[in-house]
Amino acid sequence: MNNGLAIILSGPSGAGKSTLVHKVNQWMPGILFSISCTTRAPRPGEQDGVDYHFTTIEDFEKGKDRGDFLEYAFVHGNYYGTPKAPMLSAIQNDQIILLDIDVQGARQIRECLKGTDLEKSVEYVFVAPPSLEVLEKRLRNRGTETEEAILKRLKNARGEMDAWQEYQYLVVNDDAETAARKLEAILRAALCKTHRSSWPQ
Ligand code: ADP
Ligand code: 5GP
Repeated sequence: MNNGLAIILSGPSGAGKSTLVHKVNQWMPGILFSISCTTRAPRPGEQDGVDYHFTTIEDFEKGKDRGDFLEYAFVHGNYYGTPKAPMLSAIQNDQIILLDIDVQGARQIRECLKGTDLEKSVEYVFVAPPSLEVLEKRLRNRGTETEEAILKRLKNARGEMDAWQEYQYLVVNDDAETAARKLEAILRAALCKTHRSSWPQ
């Protein structure tokens, strides 16, 4: 018990985190995905309780005051927070959970787990686009954001990219298949770490 694995994925909006997670999920079924709470409005096609728990600022603040969040941050003009319970339960029950968290949130988790038993249960992966030009094209092609939201995401992308060296792994999402295979390899290697394994004598 307590041998689960939490993988924190960070990277600019449009870098391809959801795309890679979706692919890896097909190859490694049974992986859990942390559903964040957010005050941003759902995009067309997004479902409450599946993509995010969409919430009001008032309810988000209540959750924050109750201590429901492992971390939370104000990103691109909205609150995003990770519910504590699913990640802790995954680790306690030897499961793998993927978390899409921005660089501020990842810093909070690193800091609050420092020196605790849970520190070894978390791996940090940065997903980067091949270039900021490609990022812009992908964000525009995705067609899910207003022009204002796209510009805000692009403006923040530079600062987010500066944080890549804080992570243990970097996956550059050039070709999606290749990048997803790299993420899969990171997960499989993390599962082989000695503290998570036993030798079947
Ligand atoms: P994120 O979850 O990081 O915000 P997405 O997974 O939504 O990013 O990807 C942003 C857009 O780029 C989507 O339209 C997606 O289909 C596309 N995309 C992702 N990876 C690639 C890739 N390697 N090549 C081309 N398009 C990609
Ligand atoms: P989007 O609105 O494009 O879904 O996400 C915008 C940004 O919020 C992304 O950088 C994503 O990593 C980040 N994000 C999503 N969920 C969380 C969360 O629970 N906590 C934090 N800190 N960031 C999150």
